[in-house]
Amino acid sequence: IELVLGTRVMSADVRRKTLLTATGETISYKILIIATGARALKLEEFGVGSQDAENVCYLRDLADANRLVNVMQSCTGENAVVIGGGYIGMECAASLVINKINVTMVFPEAHCMARLFTPKIASYYEEYYKSKGVKFIKGTVLSSFDFDSKGKVTAVNLRDGSKLPADIVVVGIGIRPNTSLFEGQLTIEKGGIKVNGRLQASNSFVYAVGDVASFPVKLFGETRRLEHVDSARKSAKLAVAAIMEQEKTGEFDYLPFFYSRVFTLSWQFYGEPVGEVVHFGDYSGNMFGAYWVNKGHLVGSFLEGGTKEEYDAIANATRLKPVIKDLAKLETQGLGFAMTVSQKPPSGSHPEVSSSALVLEKPVYGLQATVGVILAASIAAFAYWYGRRRRRW
Ligand code: NAD
Repeated sequence: IELVLGTRVMSADVRRKTLLTATGETISYKILIIATGARALKLEEFGVGSQDAENVCYLRDLADANRLVNVMQSCTGENAVVIGGGYIGMECAASLVINKINVTMVFPEAHCMARLFTPKIASYYEEYYKSKGVKFIKGTVLSSFDFDSKGKVTAVNLRDGSKLPADIVVVGIGIRPNTSLFEGQLTIEKGGIKVNGRLQASNSFVYAVGDVASFPVKLFGETRRLEHVDSARKSAKLAVAAIMEQEKTGEFDYLPFFYSRVFTLSWQFYGEPVGEVVHFGDYSGNMFGAYWVNKGHLVGSFLEGGTKEEYDAIANATRLKPVIKDLAKLETQGLGFAMTVSQKPPSGSHPEVSSSALVLEKPVYGLQATVGVILAASIAAFAYWYGRRRRRW
């Protein structure tokens, strides 16, 4: 593998199998893998100018993360406004408040994590966040910023007329897949590059993986574009196998998986949050969950505060898609249902049901951060070294 850094592809010609770089070089390929990911949506796209203020932070890449940490470090005891109540909003709000910054979250929906959480699940997390001092302003969006003479944001103005003082603003309002190089050349569906079960795009010499790919989720018989690291890793692995070991590689059979860890909380979700919802467990304690039942089958499972075995059980149960006839009984059985169902031998042949490799015990966090920093430093050092010696073609 030759790694070519510092090079932007300006256009692609999938018919000729070539890429044109910003410096005018042409790269020919036999097979192309599109792993362009997605970009953070900017407030400007909603008509709100931030004038590139240094204290307005996004979180998509390492540079964003470094900037966010720098601004956070200068804001102890001051005010943060978090725009968006999704993954970035919830995870950053927790980090900000842990770092002794006063946090107000603003988002347009009636509750946080609206893409996944039910009102009951959201209420648990919102109450927990409130107990940590986080304030919520829901059902509105920001309309403009106030700036000081140095161009720093000093306040956020909301559409409902209120003004929030702000020393740091964190924006997490979703992403857009980076498909533009291929629009008009490859089929686009659900905002992503449409691929088949072997991650192959509408031109068979092109593959797409991760956030930018819309692939068939076998379990549901439908195409989905999933925004998650687990899907990115596994789709990449399958695409490479499909290219390198064509005969040995079957179709991608992915069980959608999402997780998040904030404060001492930790949840996992498998499947799809569609259909009727059955909540179970102790919503006033620290272990609870929910099942989604669609057209008489279990299609989604959520669990907060589980053990590795329990998370494995909800994953297995969701993959098995058992028939559910009695929602009241399912509610009574609660987690026990998944534990029982998952004991049965799986009918499918998918080897990746287990989530065990991804369940990290809490004390590992510090280690993870350290490993992350070492890894980032190593990549930067390698990039520098490689940039100096890199061969042109
Ligand atoms: P998201 O889609 O999870 O949430 C977007 C949020 O912004 C929603 O609450 C939405 O209502 C709100 N919003 C949209 N427009 C708004 C506006 N004009 N004003 C205020 N709020 C607005 O996206 P995200 O939180 O930005 O995350 C970005 C990506 O990163 C996603 O793909 C996400 O899946 C991924 N991510 C995942 C994890 C995880 O899996 N644990 C963690 C971090 C990020």
